[in-house]
Amino acid sequence: MKWIADMEAFQIGSKWYPKEIAILNTVTRECICLTTRCSIPYSMVYPNYLPTLKCQFAIHGLYWDQGDYSLQRANQIIVNKVKAGDEVYVKGDQKAKFFETWFPSQVFEITNAPAIKDLKLCRNQVCNKNHQGMCARRKCFELLPYV
Ligand SMILES: [Zn+2]
Repeated sequence: MKWIADMEAFQIGSKWYPKEIAILNTVTRECICLTTRCSIPYSMVYPNYLPTLKCQFAIHGLYWDQGDYSLQRANQIIVNKVKAGDEVYVKGDQKAKFFETWFPSQVFEITNAPAIKDLKLCRNQVCNKNHQGMCARRKCFELLPYV
């Protein structure tokens, strides 16, 4: 089986703080999309980073400390779906590195897709969190033709 994985996240330097993680099965179209809480309280974030986080929030619309799952629980749910021998396709080398920590030796990079901002065919595939178009679920569907 092939899956497409994507996420929306805060990023400070090279460290990801995932907010929404989605995987889509390219054959069955089963899609699991989970929102996650950041493990560090917002009040503990170093003030110099706050302008960066505000810019990132403006893009994905997901609050730092809101989410349905802890990152650990989301990891368990999603890792359980992907079986040995399955392949997980990810767009972007930094995201690929992140997902390699979840699926060692199963991650492949999507290199032939246009920039996400230019992919607009799946606007109806957003999740139910009402956080506009930059939705991990929608992006997985947008990438379907390129896997
Ligand atoms: Zn979403």
